[in-house]
Amino acid sequence: MALATRQSFGVAVCLGLIISMQATPTEAKPLSLRNQHLEVSLDVPSGLLAATDLRTGTRWRQHVPIQSAQGRNWGQVKTHKVAPGSLIRFTDATIDGSRILAKALWREHPFTVVFELVPEEPALTVTVDTLNRDDPLPWKPSWPGVMLMTYPYAFHNDQAGPDAVVPIDEGVIYSTRETDPQADPKRWKLWWLHKKLSMPWWGVTDGQQGVMTQIEDPFDCMFSIQWVRTPHGQRTLPQVTWIGAKGALAYQRRVTFRFVSEGGYVAMAKAFRAFEQARGAFRSWDEKVRANPAVARLRGALDVWHQRELTADLITCMKDAGIRRAIVAKPRGGDAPATQGIEPEAISAAVEAGYLVGAYHNDSWIQGRWIARDPALKDAAVLPADGKPAYIGNAWDAKGRLDRCPGAHTDVLRRKSREAREAGLNYFFTDCTTTGGAIHECYHPGHPARRRDGAGQLSAALRAASDQGVVVGSERGKWWATATTHVFEGIGTLIDYGGPYYGKGDATHWAGPYLTKSPGYSELFLGYDLNPVRRVPLFQLVYHDSVYCTRRWNQDPGRAPDSWDRHDLMNILYGTSSLIFMHPKAGNVIGTPDWEKVRGRYLQTYRNVCGWHEKIGFDEMTSHRFLSPDRLVQETRFSSGPGVVVNFGGSAWEDPRGFTIAAQDYRIVEP
Ligand SMILES: [Zn+2]
Repeated sequence: MALATRQSFGVAVCLGLIISMQATPTEAKPLSLRNQHLEVSLDVPSGLLAATDLRTGTRWRQHVPIQSAQGRNWGQVKTHKVAPGSLIRFTDATIDGSRILAKALWREHPFTVVFELVPEEPALTVTVDTLNRDDPLPWKPSWPGVMLMTYPYAFHNDQAGPDAVVPIDEGVIYSTRETDPQADPKRWKLWWLHKKLSMPWWGVTDGQQGVMTQIEDPFDCMFSIQWVRTPHGQRTLPQVTWIGAKGALAYQRRVTFRFVSEGGYVAMAKAFRAFEQARGAFRSWDEKVRANPAVARLRGALDVWHQRELTADLITCMKDAGIRRAIVAKPRGGDAPATQGIEPEAISAAVEAGYLVGAYHNDSWIQGRWIARDPALKDAAVLPADGKPAYIGNAWDAKGRLDRCPGAHTDVLRRKSREAREAGLNYFFTDCTTTGGAIHECYHPGHPARRRDGAGQLSAALRAASDQGVVVGSERGKWWATATTHVFEGIGTLIDYGGPYYGKGDATHWAGPYLTKSPGYSELFLGYDLNPVRRVPLFQLVYHDSVYCTRRWNQDPGRAPDSWDRHDLMNILYGTSSLIFMHPKAGNVIGTPDWEKVRGRYLQTYRNVCGWHEKIGFDEMTSHRFLSPDRLVQETRFSSGPGVVVNFGGSAWEDPRGFTIAAQDYRIVEP
């Protein structure tokens, strides 16, 4: 019902646009808009915008993309010129009150574009539409669907926007001046926005001023970073490229540019937070604890997986080690029964100890061997337009797997979580569900889905699970699941940069060592995933008081002792928790003789990282800043008052507030 209302509204706007475009004569006025914050002008036929922030005088310009690049691996990037014929071409534009109404052609297909300043705000919306929304688009489908134009383009200012901040997982910071395509094969890759980014926005900034780009219709949209030519030389900027929805434009696509005069990426993250709060999509820890008091057990919890059976003895050993709060979970096959691998006495012991206890499930994938046993399972899978389910290779099943349709998740997650709850478990981990990987177009008559439906369908399924009374965790993590999920395991990792170096097979995948000899290990894994200089806590600035976050389960800090300190310091800075993947081959199973050799270091991680999380784990992260020019000294602050200064550098930091922090150390700063 809500959907039908929205579509009707869209048609009304569309008709309004036709009437006003016919009524207003062309070329009567300059094509610019102004409010108290911004002056924006449009160039015809290029479609390029220029904007002056009237608060600072900073002038922001756009440039057409001239080059893209792609390459899966280190040293394998190929560049591609952007053909001028692939760019949108504006044919007409008129002023209509506070809006510019424009007509444009993209590959000779007509589009309309509306530019409008948000009243009283330093923000501009750009809406791309067509008068023939449901017409099949006349171009050939490519791998992601029918690719449309890259538009609107990115704003840039060489002084005020030298860095791009992008919420790839927790968040990265890229210099727009880095133009060597070989330096980073992961950066340029064109990919679905909803799979690549944890939130549908990014920014360019000097740390104070900047422009935030928020994609308000992010599910039929691709993200990439492309080259532009500026008066100062080439630069690389994030770009938005639309794709068709089941072969048509289907609905209008809107982008909001928000101009920031101070506060940089922190102000941008807070603007997105306010946007989500205003539309009722943000849910705080307070609300989540009210709905299920067991959620409070996440505060200060260590996230523990155990490759062997969970036993009451293990719980006793954890308590004896001084671990006050923990998630204790059992990895196993994705379709295992609720308590497989968990001793009944372990459940009551863990619950009594104040822990969360549960197991691994993965119903977002349907493995080929499961289908061999029960062919009916195939019926829940995404059905592509050609009617042939697409099997995808994976390490866990030689027969491959299908993606469960987002529209076929609720029943299975409700049933599995109810079985877990009835067995006494209070934690439920559903792998892959919040990666965005299952969000596809589905043509199954029983559960048709558009990409833009998928997030809501998956979120409803996650809510059905949490409504059973379990704390719900899932993989990686996306903005659309924050209201219905409690734990995002993996968002602290930059999977694109770290994933190729985990190793394959049971032992190395979990227990290490990392594949340190693989090409690009230093540049990508150490250079990004474990490099605080390249990262910014964009996700925590929005959601620290809503979701408990960790790195991926491949990243037990003990598997790389050289980086253990850095691992802990990054968690402390971001106010996120630590994870242990206990595996006999890693020698880190609590209570075993091997554990005694590593016990001191693991418990140091627990005390420092989880101890800090006990204090601020449910707070809002109010700020993050780089204190030293080399960015190795950073500070975050939290809403209950304290902050932390972390020195990742190799020498002591003399803080102007009168304290010193040794190399590779941190200090909690009270208000
Ligand atoms: Zn479906």
